[in-house]
Amino acid sequence: MIDISHRDTVQPFTSMKHFPKIDLHRHLEGSVEPETLLTIASKWGGKLPAYELEALRPHIQMTPEQRGFTVFLSKFSVFRGLYTCREAIEYAVCCAVQAAAADNVKYLELRYSPSHFAAQGRFCERDVAHWIHVAMQRTALSCGIIVVPLLTISRDYGFELASSTVDMALSMPDDYFMGLDIAGNELENPADPFAVLFEKFRARGRGLSIHAGEVSSHAHVRQAVVQFGARRIGHGISAAKDPNLMCLLRDRDVLLEICLTSNVHTEAVPCIREHPVCDLARNGVACCLNTDDPAISAITLSHEYELAVAELGCSEAFLHEMNRVALRHAFHPDQAWLQKKIGHYWQ
Ligand SMILES: [Zn+2]
Repeated sequence: MIDISHRDTVQPFTSMKHFPKIDLHRHLEGSVEPETLLTIASKWGGKLPAYELEALRPHIQMTPEQRGFTVFLSKFSVFRGLYTCREAIEYAVCCAVQAAAADNVKYLELRYSPSHFAAQGRFCERDVAHWIHVAMQRTALSCGIIVVPLLTISRDYGFELASSTVDMALSMPDDYFMGLDIAGNELENPADPFAVLFEKFRARGRGLSIHAGEVSSHAHVRQAVVQFGARRIGHGISAAKDPNLMCLLRDRDVLLEICLTSNVHTEAVPCIREHPVCDLARNGVACCLNTDDPAISAITLSHEYELAVAELGCSEAFLHEMNRVALRHAFHPDQAWLQKKIGHYWQ
């Protein structure tokens, strides 16, 4: 039995950069730092609301006093206007992968929506997927990190666009998109109409990770698991309110991709200390720590580990366990190879 946390004892601050980490829930769109955006704008053009670093930050990052799901989602609009050429997209990918490697992330699943990067330049999504794949794998190789791309479709832009994106993704080589994610505003746009797309992806042996139960009811988490067959849930923290659902998640070995700071920013939880990750783990629910949108939340994965230790009292044994669990739920197609390659970090 792992000692998950000892919340009542004050933890000394420990930098977690040295700790090898896995991130299964990170959006490429929200991983582009303000410095990268300024470089892109100066080299290749594109519209920004400000061209000086400190003036740009509040447009794309949550400020200390800002909270709310719609505020958080609104930050993404600035990014879309910027990708006017292939080089700009490749540069954004390269910087995002380098930042993860520099933070000692050993395995990263980086999800993205080709539509997001294709919009401004009116590019073909197939071309965008190819550019991103090449830049991602080239950078990963040079930085010594394993990066696996996942496809994100958005609930907010309708079924037609999502459907054509899924068809494009499934026509590409297998390693271009090893899993499917649905993101966007789960309060206004339920996942039901997209069920047929989940099924298409699943039928091809790819993974499903559905954003559910972040700011919405635990019923959405149940639906993602029972109706859509998701092996992993983005956030899913409202499951902590339903003991029966926690049993279901435990019995089906469903992983919750936990993102502490993002959950505070979207007001899914009032503060880190009230985050239910330790309660979920005590109830046998598989959990791992992730960043979600590091550039928008102005965080690194090391920072999230530091919060887990300082605010939730998470033990080092629990941090190791979360990485072992994450590795077991990775969408990488060769689990045996992956275990052999990086499993030793958390033994
Ligand atoms: Zn997310």
